[in-house]
Amino acid sequence: MLPGAPYLARGDDGELRLEGHSLRALAQRHGSPLYVYSRAAMRAALGAYQRALQGRRHLLCYAMKANSNLAVLQTFAQAGCGFDIVSGGELERVLAAGGDPARVVFSGVGKTRAEIRQALATGVRCFNIESRAELDRLNDEALALGRRAPVSLRVNPDVDAGTHPYISTGLKGNKFGIAHGDALAAYRHAASLPGLEVVGIDCHIGSQITQIEPYLDAAERVLDIVAEVEAAGIALAHIDFGGGLGITYADETPPPADRLIGALLERVDARGYGARELLFEPGRSLVGNAGVLLTEVQYLKPGAAGDASAKNFCIVDAAMNDLVRPAMYDAWMAIEPCALRDGPSAHWDIVGPVCESGDWLGRDRPLCVQPGDVLAVLSAGAYGMAMASNYNTRPRAAEILLDGERAHLVRERETVRELFAGERLIPD
Ligand SMILES: *Cc1c(COP(=O)(O)O)cnc(C)c1O
Repeated sequence: MLPGAPYLARGDDGELRLEGHSLRALAQRHGSPLYVYSRAAMRAALGAYQRALQGRRHLLCYAMKANSNLAVLQTFAQAGCGFDIVSGGELERVLAAGGDPARVVFSGVGKTRAEIRQALATGVRCFNIESRAELDRLNDEALALGRRAPVSLRVNPDVDAGTHPYISTGLKGNKFGIAHGDALAAYRHAASLPGLEVVGIDCHIGSQITQIEPYLDAAERVLDIVAEVEAAGIALAHIDFGGGLGITYADETPPPADRLIGALLERVDARGYGARELLFEPGRSLVGNAGVLLTEVQYLKPGAAGDASAKNFCIVDAAMNDLVRPAMYDAWMAIEPCALRDGPSAHWDIVGPVCESGDWLGRDRPLCVQPGDVLAVLSAGAYGMAMASNYNTRPRAAEILLDGERAHLVRERETVRELFAGERLIPD
């Protein structure tokens, strides 16, 4: 079964389709590289969380750094989602997409004064604070505006999420959160500051987590801190368990969202905190398998004849600037031809035109391809376009959001002119 099924499927005619739309036809019409997302797949992914939380006081905050296209945000805002943001820029996107700032939590270790003022003026739901220094800065800014800033402290539960080191965030050695041993003192400090109002606690232990156990371990740690903090007379109205649930790229078998939430709720109930407002910050699991990146094969460069160790290169028009996950995390993402052709397959390294040896999308992939064929990199809806750059003066891809019969162009392909519009020559 393809990751992204049932929204992504190959028809009896060999054509790969997303939400019923031929991907080859979309690439012909809109050019490549092209990101294509299924709105139905996003809604279904969100639905699993919503079902599991029905009847509970809760808020789902989509971690929009995974995919921040305005139409994607609009889709989640219309479905009742809040947002987890990590910059002032993301806050502007929420507002531009019609999101409600009262459902926004502001995460991140490095909030600037300007970002804090912007978020206070907009009226976000909560600041997720990661250090004492940040508490002091937020207090200053809130007092200057005559406000009390709602705060939650991100605690570092020191559990191993069992994921890639670059996307593991809940271990002692990570830059994130306040060490659990320091949490009570930090809460006492927060409660003593007149510009702050303590409203909750949060954690986020990593990304692409495929097991339930790290979540349960983190929850136990967090609930221990809740008990300790409340015993000291500081009430915590909400508990935020962060995001991080993984998706299937290859053969991973992460728990479905409703099973993860069910297991967490059981723990939370057993500890007597079931009536609290519970927050979650899913990113990847809402959008990852809802999107693909389409790319056209430019050249085939087979390895030298007679050299068994030589590589075969399939050079495509998408590159690490369009999708950096393979280069950055050594990530494996399925690559499928949009239409099947008859013939023998060979093993190809799928590489882009960027001048870096790290510019690859997949290695040693058995494929039967010819120049002009369109390939789909699957599970590309999260941390794909959101991490795209203009390296090598490459305009960023266009984005399509499928919605039933319709295919909306939700981001135009960038032009080269736009890339250097802000640059200046100096006088002779
Ligand atoms: C990135 C991030 C998330 C979302 O992580 P996913 O793995 O995409 O679900 C949630 N909360 C915080 C604080 C984050 O930094």
